[in-house]
Parts: sequence; C-alpha cells; structure tokens
Amino acid sequence: MSGNLPAPVVNADSAPYWQGARDNKLLLQRCSDCGTLRFFPRYLCTECGSDNTGWVEATGRGTVHSFTVVHRAAFPEFQERTPYVVALIDLEEGPRMMSNIVGADALEVAIGDAVTVEFEDRGDDGAKVPQFRRA
Ligand SMILES: [Zn+2]
Repeated sequence: MSGNLPAPVVNADSAPYWQGARDNKLLLQRCSDCGTLRFFPRYLCTECGSDNTGWVEATGRGTVHSFTVVHRAAFPEFQERTPYVVALIDLEEGPRMMSNIVGADALEVAIGDAVTVEFEDRGDDGAKVPQFRRA
C-alpha cells in the first residue's frame, strides 16, 4: 500500500526510532534521569530538560484519542489513498502519537477504539512507518 509514498526523514534524534521501525519495533525515548517517556523523538526531556536518553520498546497497543478523515490530501502522493484516517493514538505507555488507522474497517474508527501498531514499507531501502489497525 506504500506505492510512491515518501520515506521518513531521519535526523540524529530520530535515527533509533526509525531503525526500530525497520525492525518492526515501536520505540519510545525514556529519560535516563527522571524516567519520563516521550514521543516524538527529541533531544531534551520534556519534564526535566535532561539530554540523558535511552530507548524502550512499546507494546504497540493504544487507544484512539481523536481522529479525522482526510478526503483531500495535502500532498499529491497521498491522493490515491483518500479517504484515509489520521488519528491521535494514546499509547499504553502514556505518550500520544499521530499516525494513520489502516485496514478495511479504518473508516469505521471511533474515539476510544483499541488499536495495535503495524509497520508499512516505505521506499526501496527498507524504511517502514508505524501505522495502526483497529484491534
Ligand atoms: Zn527527564
């Protein structure tokens, strides 16, 4: 389903996250000083400002906090995919992340639905993007 969709843009802060996705793992940063989990990947802890960071694997389970259905894609590469669901997912571990709901029943999604992560191929070099499916 990835077609010509763009591959992730990786930077120094997000490289472990995207490598985890390539390995079908959803990784979260955890502050090594205060233990706070955070998403999206960034240099400093959102709670204490520490740059001392480790990574943990999330379960990949979460619930839909909110969502919208996109009928007119912002980028031409995504037009063939419309209508599609963009959702805010509350991960079991606490952080909230934006992703897509995919699958045959994606458009039937509701707030509070349980979802699980899966990884969608992007590009030709093994890159993958976390997506969610109704559980
Ligand atoms: Zn911290």
